[in-house]
Amino acid sequence: MEAWILPGLIGFAVVVYLGWGMVDRRRHHAFARAHAAAGGGAALPDAPLSLHPEVSADQCIGSGACTKACPEHDILAMVDGQAKLINPLACVGHGACMSACPVGAIKLVFGTARRGFELPAVSPQFETSQPGIYVVGELGGMGLIRNATEQGRQAAAYLAASERRGDGGQIADAIVIGAGPSGIAATLGLIDAGLRVKLIEQGELGGTARHYPRAKVVMTGSLELPRFGTVKKKTMTKEELIELWEEIHRTVGLPLETGIKVVAIEPDGDAWRVRGENGWEGRAANVVLALGRRGTPRPLDVPGEQLPKVSYRLIETAPFRGQRVLVVGGGNAAAECALALADSGECDEVALSYRRTELARLRAGVRGRLDIAFASGKVRAMLGTQVIKIDKRTVDLEHGDGSVKRIPNDGLIVQIGGQPPSELLKSAGIQIVEKFGEA
Ligand SMILES: Cc1cc2nc3c(=O)[nH]c(=O)nc-3n(C[C@H](O)[C@H](O)[C@H](O)COP(=O)(O)OP(=O)(O)OC[C@H]3O[C@@H](n4cnc5c(N)ncnc54)[C@H](O)[C@@H]3O)c2cc1C
Repeated sequence: MEAWILPGLIGFAVVVYLGWGMVDRRRHHAFARAHAAAGGGAALPDAPLSLHPEVSADQCIGSGACTKACPEHDILAMVDGQAKLINPLACVGHGACMSACPVGAIKLVFGTARRGFELPAVSPQFETSQPGIYVVGELGGMGLIRNATEQGRQAAAYLAASERRGDGGQIADAIVIGAGPSGIAATLGLIDAGLRVKLIEQGELGGTARHYPRAKVVMTGSLELPRFGTVKKKTMTKEELIELWEEIHRTVGLPLETGIKVVAIEPDGDAWRVRGENGWEGRAANVVLALGRRGTPRPLDVPGEQLPKVSYRLIETAPFRGQRVLVVGGGNAAAECALALADSGECDEVALSYRRTELARLRAGVRGRLDIAFASGKVRAMLGTQVIKIDKRTVDLEHGDGSVKRIPNDGLIVQIGGQPPSELLKSAGIQIVEKFGEA
């Protein structure tokens, strides 16, 4: 009996060791393939322009701390003993990798060596090149809810400490544009400092979070909100986050005006004149720009786009039950939208139209799922096509050879990115800087 226990244990250990080695090699090859698919090398072609990590191959000692620290899990992985970007487009800029690296081999950069990322130039007090105009939140380059609220709060404190004030009448002390996390926090800070402030929003209170998928788990970290207090939940659902903003509105009474898209900011003596669509105007000594970067979806600019069947985001699939839906766009957002509709099984047909013949900028995971959906017919691939006209029950698509085909259609979701707020910034004469892979 005892004679075979030791050889048995050794045999078992050898099998476990070899098995683990095989799994590890497979994982390594998968990561290497993902890294190569992401472009490989230092200047990744599909690295996002927004804040993302850059790993120095000379400094990386292969501790793996960054891969474990990333809350999004699949952005960095160990390839050939070093940390490599395998899914850079999924990075939302948490920066946990940089903090976790024991040798400082990671820096967070904007843009890439070849493609620039435009940012408003701001002082450490968040003031732009124009006196009294401040930029906070994602518009300034820093994503994430906690960063946005923190910047809003700090900018409000700097603004309140300055001497610029309204006239107590027509000219308010400040107008905050954008009611996302940064705009809400800035408004709370200004109210707390006793300033006369207005909060202007083109959509609804809450900003980008309004457009997250239903029940999405949101990582927030603790939020310090003047007048309201500290919110200590690390994660909450999208609905809980929206309810938090609503609760703040109810208890503090935000001076909020919704449905106003600001189109220009012009000098008005020592103050600023803020002009909205449909003739809205406001004047203030200070303006806080909390516009985010995704707030205004880019339109197709084709006839029929104003029809109610056209939308710019997918929040729930249920409203598309029994419909033939066309998703327009070639990025991850469009692909994920088409996949979500197809996976729901609610639609009669899901098709994806993209003007190019190749979907070159998809994350590896999304690409794999979309290829399968195309092959199985769950999503109809309409690559190399461009929407040129929308009618109540049809859509006209122009193909690469110039021919136009009309397809039956009940719903259209346009996912072709957001309109950058550069025109608005330029109208105010704010200095813009372009970052090419810079920290
Ligand atoms: C799918 C997705 C998931 C995410 N998950 C997380 C997460 O888990 N954790 C996290 O911390 N972050 C997450 N983020 C990022 C986070 O949503 C943003 O970083 C954050 O919302 C930025 O806040 P903000 O106030 O700067 O801008 P926004 O939230 O974008 O708010 C800007 C507001 O300005 C308004 N606006 C824009 N232009 C105008 C104009 N001209 N006139 C009037 N109003 C205007 C917009 O309508 C919008 O309401 C996620 C983002 C996305 C897209």
